[in-house]
Amino acid sequence: MENTIRSLQQEIIDFEIGTKADLEAFRLRFTVRKGLIANLFAELKSVDPAEKPRIGQMLNQLKLAAEAKCNEATEKFAADEAFGNARKDLTLPGRRDFTGSEHPVQKVLGEMKRIFSDMGFGIATGPELELDSFNFDMLNFPPDHPARDMQDTFFITRKQNGSDVLLRTHTSPVQIRVMLDRKPPIRVICPGKVYRNEAISARSYCVFHQLEGLYIDRKVSFADLKATIYSFARQMFGTDVKLRFRPSFFPFTEPSAEVDVTCYLCGGKGCRVCKKSGWLEIMGCGMVHPNVLVNCGIDPETWSGYAFGMGVDRTVLLQYKIDDIRLLFENDIRMLRQFPA
Ligand SMILES: [Zn+2]
Repeated sequence: MENTIRSLQQEIIDFEIGTKADLEAFRLRFTVRKGLIANLFAELKSVDPAEKPRIGQMLNQLKLAAEAKCNEATEKFAADEAFGNARKDLTLPGRRDFTGSEHPVQKVLGEMKRIFSDMGFGIATGPELELDSFNFDMLNFPPDHPARDMQDTFFITRKQNGSDVLLRTHTSPVQIRVMLDRKPPIRVICPGKVYRNEAISARSYCVFHQLEGLYIDRKVSFADLKATIYSFARQMFGTDVKLRFRPSFFPFTEPSAEVDVTCYLCGGKGCRVCKKSGWLEIMGCGMVHPNVLVNCGIDPETWSGYAFGMGVDRTVLLQYKIDDIRLLFENDIRMLRQFPA
């Protein structure tokens, strides 16, 4: 009898209850009134009285083990069923899929890239951690130029390998890299992030996006520059925009100009955004300074070129009527979801 109990103990442990049918088979074999264990209890009468307490205790443990296994499986199936029913609750509101989409900055940048690509410009990129010499010196910034001040530039290290390392303050060093790398004619745009050490507010942020362009060839003139920018502005801001070039100064271009377009929000009549002037400033531009060409090993007697650069984020803010530039960088999903694909 003792051996029978031990083998049943093992059988109960090994019995796999994967389905309700398994559970029923288990129940019928072990725990029902005419099951194996009940039969053993009936046989207990014929056991030697001296052994009875010990065998009886073993038998009791066997019965408890079988019942425990049975109860555990019953509860598990009940819980599974409850869970399954909950999943099939047809009154629950549906779950909406959310499809990722382009960030508004990337949308506007993409449109700008497309327009310039159509005009034959290639795309060049460069590192955001830049050498001081590429960011300033080679672009004809004098050593005492105020832009080099700690107030405006994030310096990372000072004087390593003869040049400071900084977070680029504009994408112009990419133009230097392209001119050092290639022989003219050159026609590229350089889109990317730039960094300025500025007080953060709704109107300015420590990082923003720029897109610059560079064209170097024989006999490139200011008229070519105007035609290119006019074509860009008509595609970007609407076919009836007008342009205005105002004389300006940049170390790396001569002559230099700032470009305004008629305010595309009010059509030039004057509104809050254009401060009643009817004009919006969109970029700086000019003819590449001969010193910059010389710095890059390009002969200014043979080659000439123009360059332009614009902030991307301001256009994004205007086009989507967003009133705080910080929203473009905070990755707040509630804001991003307003720009579906
Ligand atoms: Zn306006």
